[in-house]
Amino acid sequence: MSKNLTTREEDYSKWYNELVVKADLAENSGVRGCMVIKPYGYAIWEKMQAELDRMFKETGHQNAYFPLFVPKSMFEAEEKNAEGFAKECAIVTHYRLKNDPDNAGKLIVDPNAKLEEELIVRPTSEAIIWSTYKGWIQSYRDLPLLINQWANVVRWEMRTRLFLRTAEFLWQEGHTAHATKAEALEESEKMMNVYADFAENFMAIPVIKGLKTETERFAGAEETYCIEALMQDGKALQAGTSHFLGQNFAKAFDVKFANAEGKQEHVWGTSWGVSTRLMGALVMTHSDDKGLVLPPNLAPIQVVIVPIYKTEEQLNEISAVVNDLSSALRKLNISVKYDNRTNQKPGFKFAEWELKGVPVRIAIGPKDIENRTFEVARRDTLTKEVVSKEGIDTYIKELLQQVQVDLFDKALQYRETHITEVNSFEEFKEVLEDKGGFISAHWDGTAATEEEIKNTTKATIRCIPLNRVDEAGSCILTGNPSVGRVLFAKAY
Ligand code: AMP
Repeated sequence: MSKNLTTREEDYSKWYNELVVKADLAENSGVRGCMVIKPYGYAIWEKMQAELDRMFKETGHQNAYFPLFVPKSMFEAEEKNAEGFAKECAIVTHYRLKNDPDNAGKLIVDPNAKLEEELIVRPTSEAIIWSTYKGWIQSYRDLPLLINQWANVVRWEMRTRLFLRTAEFLWQEGHTAHATKAEALEESEKMMNVYADFAENFMAIPVIKGLKTETERFAGAEETYCIEALMQDGKALQAGTSHFLGQNFAKAFDVKFANAEGKQEHVWGTSWGVSTRLMGALVMTHSDDKGLVLPPNLAPIQVVIVPIYKTEEQLNEISAVVNDLSSALRKLNISVKYDNRTNQKPGFKFAEWELKGVPVRIAIGPKDIENRTFEVARRDTLTKEVVSKEGIDTYIKELLQQVQVDLFDKALQYRETHITEVNSFEEFKEVLEDKGGFISAHWDGTAATEEEIKNTTKATIRCIPLNRVDEAGSCILTGNPSVGRVLFAKAY
């Protein structure tokens, strides 16, 4: 089975697409640019959701739900936001079909059922939410308002890829309102930190926290914080964004509050989101030529147990031992699957669970029953060892924790060896071609330079890292003065 997977070396992009499909995460659908998320993929997404949801609630947010459609006039209210998303909007113009008089069995749009006002299928929900907030916020006592929504959105993307960029995608979007600028800024930074924490501790993906340049900023935001990850092919991926909206949406939707002195002020806002793109990041960061490698904290199945037997009697004996082991592991909150299918051979099962990235495999045969042992294999390192039955449950628990840490460390090491400082444009182009990864370079701070570098090399400024050191230098392209380095990369 895994033999058929294209290797990363051969064609990274093909490897990714094949893997997503073969590991049963998702597939392309009959709808252009839209995917079907299959049960195994959805189970991983549900684990991501559960964890993020917990983190949002811990930081004081509540979930709510707003409409899928945004009337065009409402959408237009915040001009920059509307303009930024205009090119990728799906628009509803009619609400009824009718039989085609010239073509039996076919339907046509009923021209009498034209909407008075077109509806935009939300590409993001600031407009509908801020128009609602107007009714919810009157006084400083109504603030802060900390809301999150789990939803689908539609952005009419031209070049789509499973999970990474789809026309419809699942995400969460936080939308908060605050009395002061400082508080809103603090919120945007806090949620970027929540995303970074999630990426590093659950997805085992090291991320760089930074600010987007004006060109890359969310349309309608004053500042966009982001987390940027590096994939195994040396390309970057924006894994999450958190926007400081200033008073832009409050002004567009006339959302004011009476402060403690009774004076009317515009509210300050933030919004932040991560999407099913994270699934792509997870696959691309850890997986190998044999298939998925899932971090234990997000794996739907953490341990799979495969019996090795010839006779039914042996299988019964093994199953009794496995039942004890499974319940011991479940007591430690470990999710276990006993693969006792009788219509598949162990070799096939091994390959299948390897493809699906189950972190730990336990095999048990008649010899193990005799010796009171198990064979324990790690998916990430593909190593095996024989482990005694005594204390195996805590051994497995610790092993899963170790795998989680090792995956992060491996990804971090890759990331660290793929951040290259350069001081000339020649060097920049060379590193980009030969090695990829993040390139740390001086930039003169202008959109024109950023654009020219993008046009000639396809590399974009991924972020201005939050932890960058002040360092006077000169721009790699223009030679003009720069106050510090920014990170460039080719990106998904
Ligand atoms: P934004 O609202 O543009 O800041 O995006 C919010 C989150 O959605 C970011 O983490 C993006 O990486 C992600 N995202 C944006 N466009 C897409 C897309 N077409 N498919 C999947 N995820 C996306």
